[in-house]
Amino acid sequence: MRAEVLIAGQGLAGTLLAWELEKAGVSFLIRDPGHAGSATAAAAGIINPVTGRRLVKAWRFEELRPLVAETWRELGEALGVRLWREMRVRREFADDVEREAWARKAATGELAPFAGAGDEHGFWIGGAARVDLPAALGAARRRWKAQGRLREDAVDDLGAAAGSYRLVVDCTGAAGGVHAAFDGVPWEFSKGDTLELGVEGLAPDVILNRRIWIAPAEQETAFVGATHEPGVRDARPDPRSRELLTAAARRMLGGRDFTVRAHRAGVRVNLPDKRPVAGLHPTRPRLGVFGALGARGALWAPWLARQWREQLTSGLAFDPEVQSGRFLRS
Ligand SMILES: Cc1cc2nc3c(=O)[nH]c(=O)nc-3n(C[C@H](O)[C@H](O)[C@H](O)COP(=O)(O)OP(=O)(O)OC[C@H]3O[C@@H](n4cnc5c(N)ncnc54)[C@H](O)[C@@H]3O)c2cc1C
Repeated sequence: MRAEVLIAGQGLAGTLLAWELEKAGVSFLIRDPGHAGSATAAAAGIINPVTGRRLVKAWRFEELRPLVAETWRELGEALGVRLWREMRVRREFADDVEREAWARKAATGELAPFAGAGDEHGFWIGGAARVDLPAALGAARRRWKAQGRLREDAVDDLGAAAGSYRLVVDCTGAAGGVHAAFDGVPWEFSKGDTLELGVEGLAPDVILNRRIWIAPAEQETAFVGATHEPGVRDARPDPRSRELLTAAARRMLGGRDFTVRAHRAGVRVNLPDKRPVAGLHPTRPRLGVFGALGARGALWAPWLARQWREQLTSGLAFDPEVQSGRFLRS
């Protein structure tokens, strides 16, 4: 029997959408040729409540965090892997702009409840986390492939596929080739590189952040990243980025020895208002989109996937700030 929903792409968006549909008993088929060039494969899975040079609290962080933590924990249990780790961030000031932003915001309490103790060099951020994205994608892929719910090939034409399913959802990230149906959306792209290091003795729950972050991971590895190249859409690892990240890691790790085990790159997708998108096409109700997760896929994808599930099972409307209708007119 044909599935009700076709999910094109198994990055963060497709994986979380499939998981919500599985829980709701809605039948689905995922099609994804592999993760080469997927943004999720290059990401470190960091969830950080305070970011940027101006030290801004992440949009809706407090509201979303409980749902996000619960979803990742629950998916990890179903897959038999630990996906969610509570972390702290040691944020080092890179210059006086950051130092002054901290002094100002510490005085007004603007970063509460996340900002902790600080000194002239930096401050602590609580409430952060890291999601083991390679484990999530790999284990979910094996599960759904074994169940006959994942096919390892690409969808060539979303519009054509929409004739055969109740709903087809575009979760293809920066792929572009199947975006024809969503041409009116002003997608923006930014390439990023990360390195995987072999390094011993890092505190397992502390992410170091001084423009570049270093996030400890399993088996004496750590991720270093990330570069930002607005407008660049190819996902080939760039040797200049490797040099830049290696030099930053050397500085931040003091005299500690490390080796570079892997170098990855991916393309983030954003929208001009820096919000993600989820919803139906205004004139083609069997087509949907789930994307523009920017640099916050691990935080936003569980929330958007839950909205998709509620839309499909109870007809609930999407949150107005993420609706596709803000860019696509009927
Ligand atoms: C360097 C870097 C570091 C990052 N670090 C973090 C971080 O620490 N924390 C965080 O939350 N976010 C981070 N991000 C952002 C995060 O990676 C993205 O927001 C998220 O992974 C996007 O997920 P996605 O599912 O939309 O797209 P993708 O992960 O790109 O997945 C798209 C999938 O679609 C498939 N596909 C493409 N074309 C087709 C087709 N025609 N048919 C079927 N399938 C197709 C691809 O194979 C791919 O698997 C980072 C991003 C980059 C680039």
